[in-house]
Amino acid sequence: MPIKPVIACLDMEGVLTPEIWVNVAEKTKIPELRLTTRDEPNYNVLMKRRLKILEERRLTLKDIQGVIATLAPLDGAKDFLAWLRARCQVIILSDTFEQFAAPLMKQLDYPTLFCNTLEVAPDGRIVNYHLRLPDQKQASVLALKALNFRVVAAGDSYNDTSMLNAADAGIFFRPPANIAKEFPQFPVTQTYAELRTAFCKAANLPA
Ligand SMILES: [Mg+2]
Repeated sequence: MPIKPVIACLDMEGVLTPEIWVNVAEKTKIPELRLTTRDEPNYNVLMKRRLKILEERRLTLKDIQGVIATLAPLDGAKDFLAWLRARCQVIILSDTFEQFAAPLMKQLDYPTLFCNTLEVAPDGRIVNYHLRLPDQKQASVLALKALNFRVVAAGDSYNDTSMLNAADAGIFFRPPANIAKEFPQFPVTQTYAELRTAFCKAANLPA
């Protein structure tokens, strides 16, 4: 059987960067922005609430980008990503928004990122958000497989599990204990060294 080229699909928040909303909540001292899909499982309701809070506090996209620009990728993320990109194609699949990810992507040397988009008014207020596709992580993996790639995916949370399941091989990176327990089929890694080893094994990459 011919060998398929490998594409790595990586989650962003929790795998390469810190959680954006959690850090924005901390730095703006607006704890309500800390809410996640664990507190409000309906993503639509959650996002509308977040946008309402930004509106009430008169925070513009520029203000939020200023906060995000003070964040750095996780320790070791940049080296890990460079290592992986030297060995196979890499796409970051994230539920974040282009405009939020931009300051972090710059620090990671602009890897390929598939995510969502914010709608911004001319005065800089964030007025709406647009999800490109429902469950784009899983849809992207399935599309890449249809292009005859072998897909190896890594993520840290619930919103990654459909992507990990769809991939030829799925890897957890620092998952919460309950999620790791619920999905025992995915090997758990805690350090970038372990993640590199897991990729070498799953994708047959040179160390
Ligand atoms: Mg994540």
